[in-house]
Amino acid sequence: TAKRNGRNHSQRFRPALDVQETPQLGIVNDLRHALATGSQLELHYQGQHRLGDGGLVGWEALLRWRHPRDGMISPVDFIPLAERHGLMASLGNWVIDEALACQARWRRLGMPELPIWINVSALQMFQGELESALSAGLARHGVPAPLLGLEITESVLLDERAGDIAPRLEALRKLGHPVAIDDFGTGYSSLGYLKQLPLDKLKLDRTFIRALPGDRADAAIVNAVLAMARGLDLEVIAEGVETEAQRDFLLAAGCVLVQGFLYARPEPADAIEARWLPAGSGGGSTALAAAKVN
Ligand code: C2E
Ligand code: MG
Ligand code: MG
Ligand code: MG
Repeated sequence: TAKRNGRNHSQRFRPALDVQETPQLGIVNDLRHALATGSQLELHYQGQHRLGDGGLVGWEALLRWRHPRDGMISPVDFIPLAERHGLMASLGNWVIDEALACQARWRRLGMPELPIWINVSALQMFQGELESALSAGLARHGVPAPLLGLEITESVLLDERAGDIAPRLEALRKLGHPVAIDDFGTGYSSLGYLKQLPLDKLKLDRTFIRALPGDRADAAIVNAVLAMARGLDLEVIAEGVETEAQRDFLLAAGCVLVQGFLYARPEPADAIEARWLPAGSGGGSTALAAAKVN
């Protein structure tokens, strides 16, 4: 917002209403327009890898807004706006549709058949239409539910607005979607509570990875989460792995899956296709070796 407010220097000296609300309404209208046309929104895809051999196991879809005047706006900035201004349901439905369209296209092109994981916002979990939006999308695009994973941030588990979360997660898993808890370790959910939830995967938040291997407290937390997850039969994927030292620590600690800049940055679908598919062919899968880091 500093950038948006900073466009007109004199705004700083105006009353609070002008400085904060007027620019925000402008950007909300821009977002409404972007949703109506769909043209400024994009999903970028970041690979998820096995630590041992670097092999690709899935993709996370990350939302991008290419604003015609302000350039790329981070989802961290515009998702809260969408939630506050009643746009989250349509934004969430756009993500579901776009990820499924991409998955359908990748299957046609002969890309390796791996799940694309989308982020589901808290509001989508609180409201009831998520399941119907998912089933409609799966049918429209002819994609099997196991190829669309759902990442739900840990804080949603403890948010009263979500009501009893276990039956919601059960319904999503019954549709066939794998379910992961995102940003795990930041939300204070208890281990006993986790045991009751139907889950496939924990995504260890990158704040615990950043200072590895030097930080003893973070190292202890990561080891404890890995031990607990083994006991609960949950997969763990470490987020935000940027260095070989972090990777080596995680490998020695028994972590199996990773995602991070060391392996791949989020990229638009066409960039991924160009790298994975042999030039000039309508399909193929010879690029599997290219995903290996080691
Ligand atoms: P997240 O789901 O935890 O996504 C991971 C974030 O970490 C992404 O940021 C990704 O680009 C970034 N990242 C990946 N590897 C590394 C790394 O090695 N180092 C560092 N420093 N960062 C890394 P991004 O794309 O800016 O997304 C931020 C957050 O916005 C996401 O966090 C998610 O909570 C939210 N978000 C993104 N797309 C969507 C969406 O389609 N729907 C909803 N509801 N939320 C979304
Ligand atoms: Mg995520
Ligand atoms: Mg995360
Ligand atoms: Mg995160």
